[in-house]
Amino acid sequence: MTELPDAPAAFATAMIGQSLVQIVAYFALAGGLYLVVWRWGAARWAARRVQSHRRVDRAQIWFEVKHTVVTMLVGGLTPLALVMLQASGHPTILLHAPHWRWWEMAGAVVLLLVFNDMWFYACHRALHTRWLFKHVHAVHHRSIDTNPFTAYSFHAIEALVLGIWLIPLCVWVPLPAAVLGVTAVIGLLNNLGSHLGYEFFPAWLLRVPGLRWANTTTFHGLHHARSHGNYGLFTRVWDRLGNTELPGYEAAFTRAHRSEEKR
Ligand SMILES: [Zn+2]
Ligand SMILES: [Zn+2]
Repeated sequence: MTELPDAPAAFATAMIGQSLVQIVAYFALAGGLYLVVWRWGAARWAARRVQSHRRVDRAQIWFEVKHTVVTMLVGGLTPLALVMLQASGHPTILLHAPHWRWWEMAGAVVLLLVFNDMWFYACHRALHTRWLFKHVHAVHHRSIDTNPFTAYSFHAIEALVLGIWLIPLCVWVPLPAAVLGVTAVIGLLNNLGSHLGYEFFPAWLLRVPGLRWANTTTFHGLHHARSHGNYGLFTRVWDRLGNTELPGYEAAFTRAHRSEEKR
């Protein structure tokens, strides 16, 4: 993160510029994934397609792109609030953290991921209650089949709520910028992977005790296909504890790999 400019106009310009850079960089990444997997790799990876009986049309992608821009702008308010708090003299992000050791930083990343997994599950279940689904979460579920452009296709309220927990946390415990950055990148890659629409996790994932409980593209694909159940973000843990995991997930995951072996 760069030094904070003094004048409000320069500050606003810097923030708008940063938002635009983020939006362009995100669409380059999502668009690149779409081209490689959905266009160039469609025939090669046909067996890995999670919802092979459906088609994603241009209207869906255009809808997702519009709502992703909304998510980026509204979701950007949380980091903006942190930077503004920082600028007003309340440390929320440690630009230099020489007293933090590498293992403390790694531990902080793990804790943030664990908390985010829990927060997302709780919010996601609430978003599936009747009123919130109809007025907020339905935007994300317009995509019954998913692709890289679905990952951040959210209603503005959802975009704000999913990341807002960072504000009290960072006020309470100022965290190194590297910790926040690594957590954000893992979250981004996980979200793109969950919505990729093609299953690239290896078949042996279910046979490794710890990894078995990781979220996969098939896991979240079932959530979109059935519009309920499998609410988890990084793991299946909360769905298991909350008894919301959809039956047939492991069979569907295994089937995707079996059909690939036959090809
Ligand atoms: Zn949902
Ligand atoms: Zn989704």
